Amino acid sequence: MSNASVWRPMAQNIEFDALESNANAVIAVADTVRTTLGPKGLDKLLIDQAMNRHVSNDGVTILLSLKTIHPVARMVVEIAERQEQLVGDGTTTAVVMAAEMVKEGKRLIKELGVHPTKVVEGIESGVHYACELLERAARRITVDGVELEHVVNTSLASKLDGKRLASLVIHAIRSVNHNALHNGSYDFDRSIKVVRRMNVDDKVVSGLILERGRLDRDLPPEVRDARILLCRLDLKPVKESWLKGNSRYEDILTMEKDRVAKAKEMVDAMLATGANVILIASPEIDDAVENLLISRRVFGALISTDEIEHVARYTGAKPVRIMDDLRQDALGHADRVYEDEDNSIIYIEGGKNRNIVTIVVSGTTKETSLERWRAARDGVNAAEAALNKGIVAGGGAAELHVIDKMKGLKLKGLEQVGVDVVAAALESIMRQILTNAGFNGLEKVMTAKALPDTFGIDINTGEPIDMMEAGVLDPLLVKTTALKAAGEIAKAVLRIDRNLAAEDLSQQALSESKR
Ligand code: ADP
Ligand code: MG
Repeated sequence: MSNASVWRPMAQNIEFDALESNANAVIAVADTVRTTLGPKGLDKLLIDQAMNRHVSNDGVTILLSLKTIHPVARMVVEIAERQEQLVGDGTTTAVVMAAEMVKEGKRLIKELGVHPTKVVEGIESGVHYACELLERAARRITVDGVELEHVVNTSLASKLDGKRLASLVIHAIRSVNHNALHNGSYDFDRSIKVVRRMNVDDKVVSGLILERGRLDRDLPPEVRDARILLCRLDLKPVKESWLKGNSRYEDILTMEKDRVAKAKEMVDAMLATGANVILIASPEIDDAVENLLISRRVFGALISTDEIEHVARYTGAKPVRIMDDLRQDALGHADRVYEDEDNSIIYIEGGKNRNIVTIVVSGTTKETSLERWRAARDGVNAAEAALNKGIVAGGGAAELHVIDKMKGLKLKGLEQVGVDVVAAALESIMRQILTNAGFNGLEKVMTAKALPDTFGIDINTGEPIDMMEAGVLDPLLVKTTALKAAGEIAKAVLRIDRNLAAEDLSQQALSESKR
């Protein structure tokens, strides 16, 4: 007796309208991005109401820019966004796989009468097994190995100017000091910054960039052997509220004298530390303080609280919050601090800890610089994932070869259902990449299935190749995260049997209704 017939009686009570409409929404979302998948994927031209346009190949960017769409489609977009945040790549993969799982799950429910909860359980175990098998197939890589280059190149293969961006990313990763791993793993959010600027050449700066100018143009634009003070002191000795509460002329006069004296005291104490660069991230700064700093000709700049942490980590400076902490040992060090005056950017290079590099990505227009910036970040994220968890064969090969192994697991009755659903998703990646390259994807996948584990189909010739040898490599983490994300979407969609119009679903209304 097949699994399907066991569940038919229950499933017959289920309404299919919602399932149909929700499944179609997921599939429609996937259809908007599936043709971008892989190196031969095409771009989308996004146009808004004001006729602003943006050309993109990036799954998440395209999805986020779609106008009001079906609520279930929104959910897909949110999960793609989470994929982006978690691993920074593989969003199209996740969405394409989700659509495939939904399609197959719907077929099982509608045509074969399998109960939705069983399909959902099946997906859960299917995803679990598939991830385990992918993990088993993964290989470790190192910063110096050629695989790092391959994985970054693969991740950027579909991007505008991908080769060039990939070489910037690789150069950046190899020039940063990795001695201080964060909890034993690479954390490029902390060590590799990607900024975008127009009118500046692409480059890797071994240091930090602050996107602002110094306090005054008359100050020297460059300091070598920089002793850096990170100031978080309260630099506004007299508050506005004092002025509001006091209007007597004598009081104001005394206050004014006091203000200048205090400002002088603060600036003197700052300079007594031996600092020749002062970076200020105080909430407020009195004019008197600013003017004094300028007249003493120290290189000063106002920075944001976010930047403090970076400067501190890079130069070894300890942010100073109270006057007592103004000591020489609070200073950080960098070989050189200078401002590119044409672009109002301050560079801090050769910091004591050598643990941050910045990739500067240019673009002739705002949109190209944005797209290139996103691509460079994809490359950095892919590299991080690959270094931390290893790599698998790309081009959809790793996914495809997991299918047979899953089938070989001899799973019990309903777990087999999950295998079917997940297998449909696993197959779809290679099929889509090859379809996008102009081949009959279905037919090519059939050929590839019979090949050894790391083999797939060359997107240029249509002939079998070993993806590992050819250097088409994907980070394991991107694949497993995408698979799990797809599973989440499919499970959620397949469980819904009705869409109901609700009065008010804001958080407040929901919590009140609970009371
Ligand atoms: P995503 O948004 O999912 O990252 P991409 O458009 O970046 O989508 O495509 C990623 C897929 O393209 C991966 O599966 C990767 O293995 C595949 N890919 C990259 N380069 C090649 C290549 N030369 N041959 C075959 N597949 C490739
Ligand atoms: Mg990608």
